[in-house]
Amino acid sequence: MGKTLFDKVWDKHVVDSVPDGPQILYIDKHLIHEVTSPQAFNELKKRNVSLFRPDQVVATADHNTPTVNQHLPIKDVLSRNQLAQLTKNCAENDIELYGLGHENNGIIHVIAPELGITQPGMTLVCGDSHTSTHGAFGAIAFGIGTSQVAQVFASQCLLLDKPKSMRISVKGKLKKGVLAKDVALYVIAKLGTDAGTGHFVEFAGDVFENMTMEGRMTVCNMSIEMGARGGMIAPDQITYAYVKGRNFAPKDADFDKKVAVWERLKTDVDAAFDCEHTFDASDIEPMITYGTNPGMGMKISESIPTKNNASFEKSLAYMGFKKGESLIGKEVNYVFIGSCTNSRIEDFRVAANYVKGKQKAVNINAWLVPGSQRVAKQIKAEGLDSIFIEAGFELRQPGCSACLAMNDDKIPEGEYCVSTSNRNFEGRQGQGAKTLLVSPLVAAATAIEGKIIDITKQLN
Ligand code: SF4
Repeated sequence: MGKTLFDKVWDKHVVDSVPDGPQILYIDKHLIHEVTSPQAFNELKKRNVSLFRPDQVVATADHNTPTVNQHLPIKDVLSRNQLAQLTKNCAENDIELYGLGHENNGIIHVIAPELGITQPGMTLVCGDSHTSTHGAFGAIAFGIGTSQVAQVFASQCLLLDKPKSMRISVKGKLKKGVLAKDVALYVIAKLGTDAGTGHFVEFAGDVFENMTMEGRMTVCNMSIEMGARGGMIAPDQITYAYVKGRNFAPKDADFDKKVAVWERLKTDVDAAFDCEHTFDASDIEPMITYGTNPGMGMKISESIPTKNNASFEKSLAYMGFKKGESLIGKEVNYVFIGSCTNSRIEDFRVAANYVKGKQKAVNINAWLVPGSQRVAKQIKAEGLDSIFIEAGFELRQPGCSACLAMNDDKIPEGEYCVSTSNRNFEGRQGQGAKTLLVSPLVAAATAIEGKIIDITKQLN
Protein backbone atom coordinates (compact mmCIF):
# COMPACT_ATOMS: atom_id res chain seq x y z
CA MET A 1 0.00 0.00 0.00
CA GLY A 2 1.17 3.57 -0.72
CA LYS A 3 2.13 6.14 1.85
CA THR A 4 0.50 9.41 2.83
CA LEU A 5 2.43 12.68 2.87
CA PHE A 6 2.39 12.43 6.67
CA ASP A 7 3.80 8.86 6.61
CA LYS A 8 6.61 9.92 4.30
CA VAL A 9 7.77 12.79 6.53
CA TRP A 10 7.21 10.86 9.77
CA ASP A 11 8.99 7.67 8.67
CA LYS A 12 12.03 9.63 7.53
CA HIS A 13 12.41 11.09 11.03
CA VAL A 14 12.03 7.91 13.10
CA VAL A 15 15.22 7.31 15.09
CA ASP A 16 14.02 4.21 16.92
CA SER A 17 10.79 2.37 17.73
CA VAL A 18 9.46 0.51 20.74
CA PRO A 19 7.88 -2.70 19.33
CA ASP A 20 4.09 -2.06 19.21
CA GLY A 21 4.73 1.17 21.09
CA PRO A 22 5.82 4.75 20.61
CA GLN A 23 8.58 5.94 18.34
CA ILE A 24 11.46 8.32 18.81
CA LEU A 25 11.12 11.12 16.29
CA TYR A 26 13.95 13.46 15.30
CA ILE A 27 12.95 17.13 15.35
CA ASP A 28 14.52 19.38 12.72
CA LYS A 29 13.54 22.76 14.15
CA HIS A 30 12.58 23.80 17.63
CA LEU A 31 10.84 27.17 17.88
CA ILE A 32 10.56 28.86 21.27
CA HIS A 33 9.05 31.98 22.82
CA GLU A 34 8.97 33.65 26.22
CA VAL A 35 5.92 31.90 27.67
CA THR A 36 6.55 28.16 27.49
CA SER A 37 10.36 27.99 27.48
CA PRO A 38 11.42 29.19 30.98
CA GLN A 39 10.25 26.04 32.78
CA ALA A 40 12.10 23.85 30.26
CA PHE A 41 15.32 25.83 30.69
CA ASN A 42 14.95 25.42 34.46
CA GLU A 43 14.47 21.69 34.03
CA LEU A 44 17.73 21.43 32.08
CA LYS A 45 19.57 23.43 34.73
CA LYS A 46 18.17 21.26 37.52
CA ARG A 47 19.37 18.12 35.76
CA ASN A 48 22.66 19.69 34.70
CA VAL A 49 21.98 18.81 31.05
CA SER A 50 23.09 21.06 28.23
CA LEU A 51 21.19 21.81 25.02
CA PHE A 52 21.89 19.13 22.41
CA ARG A 53 21.58 21.23 19.22
CA PRO A 54 21.21 24.96 19.99
CA ASP A 55 21.75 25.72 16.28
CA GLN A 56 18.37 24.09 15.56
CA VAL A 57 16.51 26.29 18.04
CA VAL A 58 15.09 29.71 17.11
CA ALA A 59 13.57 32.10 19.63
CA THR A 60 11.34 35.15 19.42
CA ALA A 61 9.41 37.35 21.81
CA ASP A 62 5.74 37.62 20.85
CA HIS A 63 3.08 36.85 23.47
CA ASN A 64 4.00 39.41 26.10
CA THR A 65 5.26 42.17 23.85
CA PRO A 66 3.59 45.57 23.75
CA THR A 67 2.42 46.75 20.32
CA VAL A 68 3.05 50.44 20.90
CA ASN A 69 6.32 52.18 21.85
CA GLN A 70 8.37 49.01 21.58
CA HIS A 71 11.51 51.15 21.87
CA LEU A 72 10.64 52.04 25.48
CA PRO A 73 11.17 49.76 28.51
CA ILE A 74 8.15 47.46 28.93
CA LYS A 75 5.84 48.89 31.59
CA ASP A 76 4.25 45.61 32.68
CA VAL A 77 6.63 44.00 35.18
CA LEU A 78 5.63 40.39 34.44
CA SER A 79 6.08 40.87 30.69
CA ARG A 80 9.39 42.70 31.21
CA ASN A 81 10.68 39.85 33.36
CA GLN A 82 9.50 37.17 30.89
CA LEU A 83 11.41 38.85 28.07
CA ALA A 84 14.49 39.43 30.20
CA GLN A 85 14.47 35.75 31.18
CA LEU A 86 14.19 34.66 27.54
CA THR A 87 17.13 36.90 26.60
CA LYS A 88 19.21 35.47 29.44
CA ASN A 89 18.31 31.84 28.65
CA CYS A 90 19.09 32.28 24.95
CA ALA A 91 22.44 33.95 25.68
CA GLU A 92 23.44 31.23 28.17
CA ASN A 93 22.48 28.46 25.74
CA ASP A 94 23.76 29.97 22.50
CA ILE A 95 20.31 30.25 20.90
CA GLU A 96 19.47 32.72 18.13
CA LEU A 97 16.93 35.17 19.56
CA TYR A 98 14.89 37.63 17.54
CA GLY A 99 13.88 39.77 20.48
CA LEU A 100 11.79 42.90 20.66
CA GLY A 101 12.97 45.48 18.11
CA HIS A 102 15.02 42.98 16.07
CA GLU A 103 14.30 43.20 12.33
CA ASN A 104 13.31 39.50 12.36
CA ASN A 105 11.04 39.79 15.40
CA GLY A 106 7.39 38.82 15.28
CA ILE A 107 4.99 36.00 16.06
CA ILE A 108 6.90 32.72 15.93
CA HIS A 109 4.50 31.20 13.36
CA VAL A 110 4.87 34.21 11.10
CA ILE A 111 8.63 34.70 11.26
CA ALA A 112 9.79 31.09 10.79
CA PRO A 113 8.08 30.74 7.37
CA GLU A 114 9.03 34.24 6.21
CA LEU A 115 12.69 33.66 7.10
CA GLY A 116 12.72 30.33 5.25
CA ILE A 117 13.30 28.40 8.51
CA THR A 118 10.16 26.36 7.79
CA GLN A 119 10.71 24.07 4.82
CA PRO A 120 8.90 21.10 3.26
CA GLY A 121 9.52 17.66 4.74
CA MET A 122 10.71 18.98 8.10
CA THR A 123 9.59 18.18 11.62
CA LEU A 124 9.03 21.34 13.67
CA VAL A 125 7.80 21.77 17.22
CA CYS A 126 7.10 24.66 19.56
CA GLY A 127 5.56 24.95 23.01
CA ASP A 128 2.56 26.52 21.34
CA SER A 129 -0.64 25.01 19.92
CA HIS A 130 -0.63 26.92 16.63
CA THR A 131 2.65 25.37 15.51
CA SER A 132 0.34 23.52 13.14
CA THR A 133 0.69 26.62 10.90
CA HIS A 134 3.98 25.32 9.48
CA GLY A 135 2.24 22.23 8.09
CA ALA A 136 1.27 24.46 5.16
CA PHE A 137 4.74 23.68 3.75
CA GLY A 138 4.29 19.91 3.86
CA ALA A 139 6.04 19.72 7.21
CA ILE A 140 4.98 17.82 10.33
CA ALA A 141 4.56 20.65 12.81
CA PHE A 142 2.80 20.51 16.14
CA GLY A 143 2.61 22.08 19.57
CA ILE A 144 4.24 20.42 22.56
CA GLY A 145 4.02 20.73 26.34
CA THR A 146 6.68 22.17 28.62
CA SER A 147 8.19 18.82 29.58
CA GLN A 148 8.47 17.97 25.87
CA VAL A 149 10.20 21.31 25.25
CA ALA A 150 12.83 20.13 27.77
CA GLN A 151 13.02 16.73 26.01
CA VAL A 152 13.74 18.40 22.67
CA PHE A 153 16.28 20.75 24.28
CA ALA A 154 18.13 17.75 25.69
CA SER A 155 17.89 15.31 22.79
CA GLN A 156 16.42 17.03 19.70
CA CYS A 157 13.99 14.09 19.77
CA LEU A 158 10.52 13.26 21.11
CA LEU A 159 8.93 9.99 22.16
CA LEU A 160 5.56 9.85 20.41
CA ASP A 161 2.74 7.58 19.38
CA LYS A 162 2.09 7.92 15.68
CA PRO A 163 -1.23 9.75 15.20
CA LYS A 164 -4.01 8.48 12.93
CA SER A 165 -4.48 10.07 9.53
CA MET A 166 -7.37 12.12 8.17
CA ARG A 167 -7.81 13.73 4.76
CA ILE A 168 -10.06 16.72 4.28
CA SER A 169 -10.70 17.51 0.64
CA VAL A 170 -12.37 20.70 -0.53
CA LYS A 171 -13.14 20.53 -4.21
CA GLY A 172 -14.27 23.14 -6.72
CA LYS A 173 -13.85 26.90 -6.87
CA LEU A 174 -14.33 29.30 -3.98
CA LYS A 175 -16.83 32.11 -4.44
CA LYS A 176 -15.68 35.72 -4.56
CA GLY A 177 -14.89 37.05 -1.08
CA VAL A 178 -14.48 33.58 0.45
CA LEU A 179 -11.03 33.43 2.00
CA ALA A 180 -8.88 30.70 3.56
CA LYS A 181 -10.21 31.66 7.01
CA ASP A 182 -13.76 31.02 5.82
CA VAL A 183 -12.73 27.59 4.54
CA ALA A 184 -11.22 26.75 7.94
CA LEU A 185 -14.22 28.05 9.90
CA TYR A 186 -16.61 26.22 7.56
CA VAL A 187 -14.82 22.88 7.97
CA ILE A 188 -14.67 23.26 11.77
CA ALA A 189 -18.35 24.25 11.92
CA LYS A 190 -19.23 21.16 9.86
CA LEU A 191 -17.02 18.65 11.69
CA GLY A 192 -16.88 20.05 15.24
CA THR A 193 -14.01 20.88 17.56
CA ASP A 194 -13.14 17.29 18.44
CA ALA A 195 -13.39 15.67 15.00
CA GLY A 196 -9.63 15.64 14.57
CA THR A 197 -8.72 14.22 17.99
CA GLY A 198 -5.78 11.83 17.68
CA HIS A 199 -5.38 12.61 13.95
CA PHE A 200 -3.02 14.51 11.73
CA VAL A 201 -4.93 16.10 8.87
CA GLU A 202 -3.91 16.44 5.24
CA PHE A 203 -5.82 19.17 3.38
CA ALA A 204 -6.26 18.21 -0.26
CA GLY A 205 -8.23 19.16 -3.33
CA ASP A 206 -8.14 22.05 -5.77
CA VAL A 207 -9.13 24.69 -3.20
CA PHE A 208 -5.89 24.14 -1.29
CA GLU A 209 -3.86 23.54 -4.44
CA ASN A 210 -4.93 26.98 -5.70
CA MET A 211 -4.40 28.69 -2.37
CA THR A 212 -1.46 31.02 -1.64
CA MET A 213 1.02 30.03 1.06
CA GLU A 214 -0.53 32.68 3.33
CA GLY A 215 -3.93 31.02 2.89
CA ARG A 216 -2.52 27.56 3.46
CA MET A 217 -0.90 28.79 6.68
CA THR A 218 -4.26 30.14 7.85
CA VAL A 219 -5.93 26.77 7.23
CA CYS A 220 -3.20 24.69 8.89
CA ASN A 221 -3.08 27.17 11.78
CA MET A 222 -6.78 26.50 12.45
CA SER A 223 -6.46 22.69 12.11
CA ILE A 224 -5.89 22.31 15.83
CA GLU A 225 -9.21 24.06 16.48
CA MET A 226 -10.89 20.88 15.23
CA GLY A 227 -8.87 18.90 17.75
CA ALA A 228 -6.24 17.60 15.30
CA ARG A 229 -2.55 17.28 16.26
CA GLY A 230 -1.79 19.30 13.16
CA GLY A 231 -2.56 19.85 9.51
CA MET A 232 -0.46 19.71 6.38
CA ILE A 233 -0.62 20.42 2.67
CA ALA A 234 1.57 18.78 0.05
CA PRO A 235 4.32 21.11 -1.20
CA ASP A 236 4.16 22.27 -4.82
CA GLN A 237 5.40 25.06 -7.09
CA ILE A 238 3.58 27.65 -4.93
CA THR A 239 5.50 26.37 -1.89
CA TYR A 240 8.88 26.34 -3.62
CA ALA A 241 8.35 29.85 -5.01
CA TYR A 242 7.53 31.09 -1.48
CA VAL A 243 10.58 29.44 0.12
CA LYS A 244 13.08 30.37 -2.60
CA GLY A 245 15.40 33.26 -1.77
CA ARG A 246 14.43 33.50 1.90
CA ASN A 247 17.22 33.97 4.46
CA PHE A 248 17.52 30.36 5.60
CA ALA A 249 16.34 28.64 2.43
CA PRO A 250 18.85 26.49 0.56
CA LYS A 251 20.63 28.46 -2.16
CA ASP A 252 21.25 27.89 -5.91
CA ALA A 253 21.99 24.23 -6.78
CA ASP A 254 21.21 23.15 -3.21
CA PHE A 255 17.72 24.59 -3.60
CA ASP A 256 17.15 22.62 -6.81
CA LYS A 257 18.36 19.43 -5.10
CA LYS A 258 15.94 20.05 -2.26
CA VAL A 259 13.04 20.64 -4.67
CA ALA A 260 13.76 17.26 -6.25
CA VAL A 261 13.34 15.69 -2.78
CA TRP A 262 10.29 17.82 -1.91
CA GLU A 263 8.60 16.75 -5.16
CA ARG A 264 8.27 13.26 -3.68
CA LEU A 265 6.27 14.56 -0.70
CA LYS A 266 2.85 13.75 -2.08
CA THR A 267 0.34 11.20 -0.86
CA ASP A 268 0.47 8.11 -3.09
CA VAL A 269 -2.75 7.39 -4.98
CA ASP A 270 -3.12 4.04 -3.25
CA ALA A 271 -2.47 5.38 0.27
CA ALA A 272 -5.28 4.91 2.78
CA PHE A 273 -6.42 7.34 5.48
CA ASP A 274 -8.07 6.36 8.74
CA CYS A 275 -10.76 8.92 8.01
CA GLU A 276 -11.81 11.10 5.05
CA HIS A 277 -14.13 14.09 4.60
CA THR A 278 -14.99 15.87 1.38
CA PHE A 279 -16.63 19.27 0.93
CA ASP A 280 -17.85 21.28 -2.03
CA ALA A 281 -16.22 24.73 -2.33
CA SER A 282 -19.38 26.26 -3.81
CA ASP A 283 -21.19 25.74 -0.48
CA ILE A 284 -18.70 27.92 1.44
CA GLU A 285 -19.52 31.56 2.18
CA PRO A 286 -17.97 34.23 4.39
CA MET A 287 -18.22 32.84 7.91
CA ILE A 288 -18.62 34.20 11.44
CA THR A 289 -18.64 32.53 14.85
CA TYR A 290 -21.42 33.22 17.34
CA GLY A 291 -20.31 31.14 20.33
CA THR A 292 -17.33 30.37 22.54
CA ASN A 293 -15.52 27.75 20.50
CA PRO A 294 -14.39 27.94 16.86
CA GLY A 295 -16.86 25.19 15.90
CA MET A 296 -19.77 27.50 16.71
CA GLY A 297 -19.63 29.16 13.33
CA MET A 298 -22.09 29.82 10.50
CA LYS A 299 -22.33 31.52 7.13
CA ILE A 300 -22.60 35.23 7.86
CA SER A 301 -26.00 35.33 6.15
CA GLU A 302 -27.40 32.54 8.35
CA SER A 303 -29.03 32.65 11.77
CA ILE A 304 -27.76 31.03 14.97
CA PRO A 305 -28.90 27.40 15.14
CA THR A 306 -31.63 26.43 17.59
CA LYS A 307 -30.13 23.60 19.63
CA ASN A 308 -31.39 22.41 22.99
CA ASN A 309 -28.14 21.76 24.76
CA ALA A 310 -26.91 23.19 28.07
CA SER A 311 -23.37 24.05 26.98
CA PHE A 312 -24.69 25.59 23.73
CA GLU A 313 -27.10 27.75 25.74
CA LYS A 314 -24.39 28.71 28.25
CA SER A 315 -22.17 29.77 25.38
CA LEU A 316 -24.91 31.92 23.80
CA ALA A 317 -25.64 33.47 27.20
CA TYR A 318 -21.97 34.49 27.52
CA MET A 319 -22.07 36.01 24.04
CA GLY A 320 -25.40 37.75 24.69
CA PHE A 321 -27.00 36.09 21.65
CA LYS A 322 -30.25 34.18 21.19
CA LYS A 323 -31.02 31.00 19.28
CA GLY A 324 -32.35 31.71 15.80
CA GLU A 325 -30.94 35.24 15.82
CA SER A 326 -29.15 36.78 12.83
CA LEU A 327 -25.97 38.73 13.58
CA ILE A 328 -26.49 41.12 10.69
CA GLY A 329 -26.79 44.67 12.00
CA LYS A 330 -25.23 43.80 15.38
CA GLU A 331 -23.07 46.73 16.55
CA VAL A 332 -19.55 46.02 17.74
CA ASN A 333 -16.91 48.36 19.12
CA TYR A 334 -13.67 46.48 18.40
CA VAL A 335 -12.11 45.03 15.27
CA PHE A 336 -8.79 43.20 15.44
CA ILE A 337 -6.84 42.18 12.37
CA GLY A 338 -3.82 40.23 13.53
CA SER A 339 -2.60 36.96 15.16
CA CYS A 340 -0.67 34.06 13.65
CA THR A 341 -3.83 33.15 11.71
CA ASN A 342 -4.25 36.37 9.74
CA SER A 343 -1.42 38.89 10.16
CA ARG A 344 0.53 38.31 6.97
CA ILE A 345 0.88 40.79 4.12
CA GLU A 346 -1.89 39.16 2.09
CA ASP A 347 -4.33 39.72 4.99
CA PHE A 348 -3.52 43.42 5.14
CA ARG A 349 -3.78 43.71 1.34
CA VAL A 350 -7.30 42.27 1.46
CA ALA A 351 -8.30 44.63 4.27
CA ALA A 352 -6.68 47.68 2.61
CA ASN A 353 -8.36 46.90 -0.69
CA TYR A 354 -11.76 47.04 1.02
CA VAL A 355 -10.95 50.04 3.21
CA LYS A 356 -9.39 52.24 0.51
CA GLY A 357 -11.21 55.57 0.25
CA LYS A 358 -13.59 54.75 3.12
CA GLN A 359 -13.73 55.83 6.79
CA LYS A 360 -14.10 53.57 9.79
CA ALA A 361 -17.30 53.95 11.81
CA VAL A 362 -17.03 56.27 14.82
CA ASN A 363 -17.92 53.55 17.34
CA ILE A 364 -15.10 51.28 16.17
CA ASN A 365 -11.63 50.78 17.61
CA ALA A 366 -9.83 49.15 14.69
CA TRP A 367 -6.52 47.54 15.66
CA LEU A 368 -4.23 46.30 12.93
CA VAL A 369 -1.28 44.30 14.23
CA PRO A 370 1.26 42.92 11.74
CA GLY A 371 2.62 39.47 12.50
CA SER A 372 6.23 40.54 12.15
CA GLN A 373 8.58 43.46 11.63
CA ARG A 374 8.92 42.36 8.02
CA VAL A 375 5.18 42.44 7.47
CA ALA A 376 5.10 45.90 9.11
CA LYS A 377 7.84 47.07 6.74
CA GLN A 378 6.02 45.66 3.73
CA ILE A 379 2.76 47.36 4.74
CA LYS A 380 4.67 50.66 4.56
CA ALA A 381 6.51 49.76 1.36
CA GLU A 382 3.19 49.05 -0.38
CA GLY A 383 1.58 52.23 0.96
CA LEU A 384 -1.11 50.27 2.83
CA ASP A 385 -0.28 52.22 6.00
CA SER A 386 -1.62 55.48 4.53
CA ILE A 387 -4.83 53.75 3.41
CA PHE A 388 -5.43 52.48 6.93
CA ILE A 389 -4.40 55.67 8.70
CA GLU A 390 -6.57 57.84 6.42
CA ALA A 391 -9.48 55.49 7.17
CA GLY A 392 -8.94 55.97 10.94
CA PHE A 393 -7.46 52.54 11.71
CA GLU A 394 -4.72 52.11 14.31
CA LEU A 395 -1.65 50.41 12.89
CA ARG A 396 0.35 48.92 15.75
CA GLN A 397 3.70 47.17 16.10
CA PRO A 398 4.09 43.38 15.68
CA GLY A 399 3.13 40.82 18.32
CA CYS A 400 0.38 38.42 19.40
CA SER A 401 -1.53 41.45 20.67
CA ALA A 402 -5.28 40.99 21.23
CA CYS A 403 -5.24 37.34 20.18
CA LEU A 404 -4.90 36.56 23.87
CA ALA A 405 -5.12 38.62 27.00
CA MET A 406 -1.44 38.33 27.92
CA ASN A 407 -0.25 41.83 27.01
CA ASP A 408 -1.68 45.37 27.09
CA ASP A 409 -4.02 44.83 24.11
CA LYS A 410 -7.10 43.60 25.93
CA ILE A 411 -10.70 43.91 24.79
CA PRO A 412 -12.71 45.46 27.66
CA GLU A 413 -15.27 43.42 29.59
CA GLY A 414 -18.60 43.00 27.82
CA GLU A 415 -17.36 44.35 24.48
CA TYR A 416 -17.69 42.48 21.20
CA CYS A 417 -14.58 42.08 19.08
CA VAL A 418 -14.74 40.98 15.47
CA SER A 419 -11.39 39.29 15.21
CA THR A 420 -9.21 37.48 12.67
CA SER A 421 -7.61 35.39 15.43
CA ASN A 422 -8.25 31.69 16.02
CA ARG A 423 -9.92 31.29 19.40
CA ASN A 424 -13.19 32.73 20.71
CA PHE A 425 -13.03 31.09 24.15
CA GLU A 426 -14.53 32.95 27.12
CA GLY A 427 -12.07 35.65 28.17
CA ARG A 428 -9.54 34.83 25.46
CA GLN A 429 -9.22 38.48 24.39
CA GLY A 430 -9.80 39.92 27.85
CA GLN A 431 -11.95 39.11 30.86
CA GLY A 432 -15.60 39.14 29.77
CA ALA A 433 -14.70 40.04 26.17
CA LYS A 434 -16.84 38.48 23.42
CA THR A 435 -15.02 37.32 20.30
CA LEU A 436 -16.46 36.73 16.84
CA LEU A 437 -14.00 35.02 14.50
CA VAL A 438 -13.95 36.13 10.88
CA SER A 439 -11.74 36.63 7.82
CA PRO A 440 -9.77 39.87 7.27
CA LEU A 441 -12.35 40.94 4.66
CA VAL A 442 -15.28 40.60 7.08
CA ALA A 443 -13.23 42.33 9.78
CA ALA A 444 -12.47 45.27 7.48
CA ALA A 445 -16.12 45.57 6.42
CA THR A 446 -17.26 45.51 10.07
CA ALA A 447 -14.82 48.31 10.91
CA ILE A 448 -16.17 50.50 8.13
CA GLU A 449 -19.84 49.86 8.91
CA GLY A 450 -19.57 49.74 12.72
CA LYS A 451 -21.76 46.65 12.68
CA ILE A 452 -21.83 43.19 11.16
CA ILE A 453 -23.00 43.25 7.57
CA ASP A 454 -23.82 40.59 5.03
CA ILE A 455 -20.70 41.05 2.94
CA THR A 456 -21.99 38.66 0.30
CA LYS A 457 -24.43 41.38 -0.83
CA GLN A 458 -21.47 43.58 -1.82
CA LEU A 459 -19.66 40.81 -3.67
CA ASN A 460 -22.17 39.90 -6.36
S1 SF4 B 1 -1.02 35.00 17.79
FE1 SF4 B 1 -2.35 34.00 19.28
S2 SF4 B 1 -2.49 31.86 18.69
FE2 SF4 B 1 -0.77 32.78 17.57
S3 SF4 B 1 1.03 32.32 18.80
FE3 SF4 B 1 0.30 34.32 19.44
S4 SF4 B 1 -1.11 33.93 21.14
FE4 SF4 B 1 -0.78 31.96 20.10
